[in-house]
Amino acid sequence: VKDKINSLGPNEKFISFEFFPPKTDSGFRNLLARLNRMSALNPLFVTVTWGAGGSTSEKSLDLAGTFQNDLGLTTVLHLTCTNTNKEIIDNALKKAKENGIRNILALRGDPPRAEEYWTPNCDFNAAIDLVKYIKQEYGDYFCIGVAGYPEGHVDGSDGALQDPKKDIPYLIEKVEAGADFIITQLFYDADKFIKYEKLLSTYPQLKDITLIPGLMPITTYKVFTRASKLSHASIPDDILTKLQSSINDDDAVKSLGVDILTDIISNINTETQGRIRGYHFYSLNLEKAVASILDKSDILRPVIQSSGEANDEGNDAIVSD
Ligand code: FAD
Repeated sequence: VKDKINSLGPNEKFISFEFFPPKTDSGFRNLLARLNRMSALNPLFVTVTWGAGGSTSEKSLDLAGTFQNDLGLTTVLHLTCTNTNKEIIDNALKKAKENGIRNILALRGDPPRAEEYWTPNCDFNAAIDLVKYIKQEYGDYFCIGVAGYPEGHVDGSDGALQDPKKDIPYLIEKVEAGADFIITQLFYDADKFIKYEKLLSTYPQLKDITLIPGLMPITTYKVFTRASKLSHASIPDDILTKLQSSINDDDAVKSLGVDILTDIISNINTETQGRIRGYHFYSLNLEKAVASILDKSDILRPVIQSSGEANDEGNDAIVSD
């Protein structure tokens, strides 16, 4: 990922997509059929999520291997390190290497659902431990990404306002240990991301690292509110008002969602004076919303070589996850 970003021209932008492994074989087949069209949107790289505690390890490794080897896409495997054991991590890194995967998004992982706060319970307590472990075991073989939080991470905030400044020392630790890029938690308040980018630029250790904003297209009102709640993303009043006017009209919500995301990208590009090189889409394995945003965005349209026919039929993703 680092090499591919470095090989872009000075004003060239990139996009990347997150996928999760479908639960069923038919979901897997549907996703593969859709992937040819999504590849035509020309992502610089794709990422594959990892179920908490390694719950999807086999499916995640399968999907990542398919992306990398069968589809020739530069693939980033997410890997979490808590509430799991070292064997699962060792096996994942070994298999990733065997499959030619060169990129890992090193994460701590979320607490199990029943627990309000996470407590350390194995060799790895935080993402930094995984970054260090990968470097120790594999040197520079893997390019490493880590997570960033424009609105702050929720840990220790007692549900009150989060402060991104609190995470900075730990983010610096992750970068100094060898992280090459940061992908952010999803957000809908562009100002929060713009402030975060400015905040990072005031730290010498963080000012040059590639910061990639994480964007989740809005497909239905229900998915939007669920995802925002789970990720603790605040919703600006104007966005909420717009969407609430069409709660039960999925087509209207989708179309408003395309406008909202296009505006967020445009705002970020203007306010950061083009310093943001790439935009990461939490695709939810769906093609149409991302394709529509790319088509509408003056900044990202040139990135697409040819978008093909967008169609999300037959996807089991949203329904089951
Ligand atoms: P860390 O960097 O370890 O930070 C977690 C919290 O601990 C922060 O508040 C930080 O400030 C604090 N902290 C860190 N080190 C210390 C220390 N030494 N002392 C005190 N406090 C410390 N989860 C999954 O299960 N699967 C996925 O595939 C997945 N993909 C993700 C992709 C992205 C882009 C993002 C942003 C998140 C993803 N997550 C995923 C969620 C992630 O696992 C959670 O947000 C998790 O709670 C934190 O992970 P982290 O890597 O940011 O942790």
